[in-house]
Amino acid sequence: QSTGAQPVLDALHEAREAKGADNCRVKGVGCMGLCSAGPLVSVGERDADLNASNIYREVSADHAEALIEATQDPAAAEARLAALHCPSDLPFFARQHKIVLEHAGVIDPDSFKGYVAVGGYRAMVQALSEMTPAEVIAEITTSGLRGRGGGGYPTGLKWSTVAKMPDEQKYVICNADEGDPGAFMDRAILESDPHRLLEGMAIAAYAIGANKGYIYVRAEYPLAVERLKNAIRKAKRQGFLGHHICETQFNFDVEIRLGAGAFVCGEETALMASIEGGRGQPRPRPPYPAESGLFGRPTLINNVETYANIAPIVNEGGDWFAGIGTERSKGTKVFALAGTIENTGLIEVPMGTRLRDIIEVIGGGIPDGKAFKAVQTGGPSGGCVPAEHLDIGVDYDSLKTLGTMMGSGGMIVMDETSNMVDVARFFMEFCMDESCGKCVPCRTGTQQMHALLDKIAKSTATRGDLALLEELCDVVQATSLCGLGQSAPNPVMSTLRYFRAEYEDKLAGC
Ligand code: SF4
Repeated sequence: QSTGAQPVLDALHEAREAKGADNCRVKGVGCMGLCSAGPLVSVGERDADLNASNIYREVSADHAEALIEATQDPAAAEARLAALHCPSDLPFFARQHKIVLEHAGVIDPDSFKGYVAVGGYRAMVQALSEMTPAEVIAEITTSGLRGRGGGGYPTGLKWSTVAKMPDEQKYVICNADEGDPGAFMDRAILESDPHRLLEGMAIAAYAIGANKGYIYVRAEYPLAVERLKNAIRKAKRQGFLGHHICETQFNFDVEIRLGAGAFVCGEETALMASIEGGRGQPRPRPPYPAESGLFGRPTLINNVETYANIAPIVNEGGDWFAGIGTERSKGTKVFALAGTIENTGLIEVPMGTRLRDIIEVIGGGIPDGKAFKAVQTGGPSGGCVPAEHLDIGVDYDSLKTLGTMMGSGGMIVMDETSNMVDVARFFMEFCMDESCGKCVPCRTGTQQMHALLDKIAKSTATRGDLALLEELCDVVQATSLCGLGQSAPNPVMSTLRYFRAEYEDKLAGC
């Protein structure tokens, strides 16, 4: 929508009518990934073709007539569309491995039938009719899936912990409170394939013995919310949510809760407090949500991408999934490419893919002949990776060795013109604004660190100020209550590690 796809879709419907092309179907789909070339239109003989062949880029409503003609007489339309052709062997498409995003840009997200036609809800039927809850958890454990929200905690272990709790009332929560600057992975899944999330959540509920689920999604994602509501309504009507699902004794209902935009509500204890109607503030752990979560009951919390991996694992088997990726990071990861990079957009690659391949091959490199300087991974909780480490394979552990983290999948690419003190100040300002204020180290520490970064950026800081900044980083990291404060110093520490000279150059008297 942000690239102007709706007028193109409307024009295609009109052109189809005008041409009487009754054998042609015009279908709105979700995100095809290549934001920088949108709106994209794909033409194929069958739904299955839409991900691979005849993709046209930067389409406007003026091209609608030629596109409809391409479905009737491809040769005649070719000359009019040649300039828009986006080769399917473009590395952006060809080098990806889509599991989570396999239906994005292929199916109509508002169509229940469309989801079922590509194998949707098959995994749920199989789990409910052929597998015990323990067998489902065993398959997830075998897959090696780790939480995609950033922590990387083993999903099978988390599920089995909640499953072992004796309580009759348990909850399943989907954390869709995506708030990192430059990150839009969850949004694309919700807007492109909402039934995939519901199916994953329902399988999780069956496995752990829950009958109630909540999706906590930011109110700033109105299209995602609308599509989720539509999907929930249709899944209920078709007997895939609600009571006696698939004619079994399993009941599972899902409700949406809207977040009001506080970044800290992505932290799981704050998120649960918000669902309970309280102020969205973290609390100390233990107890962990698996033991005492929502309304004091055992609660399973995973993020959107984690749940979106569940149906394929049940369908194809844990061993299949474990065969993709690296030894300790299995499967694929969705990344949002943003910043100064040719192909901004959404990609999915196997864990362990080299950062250089992501940025230079899939991402198309840096525009305008400029040099790459760094890429920020993990948003405001992460850090930057400089050019000398571009050959590292991206997974949970490798990025940690570089002083950053994978986070939920945001990648902000910076070229040679970026000043790294400004970058650190930007992320610190974000954390300062988003600090909930509950604990002193974060509430005051982020303000003090931001003030020091501001002084450095304005070349009025002394060497003593820089030493104080480094000391504060250690204190805030060690003493803050939740992940927001604990990780707030990361961008400073990371830029100091790789670009210290840029700080020193700005000190007063240097
Ligand atoms: Fe709130 Fe920051 Fe403390 Fe977390 S670390 S509880 S966000 S003040």
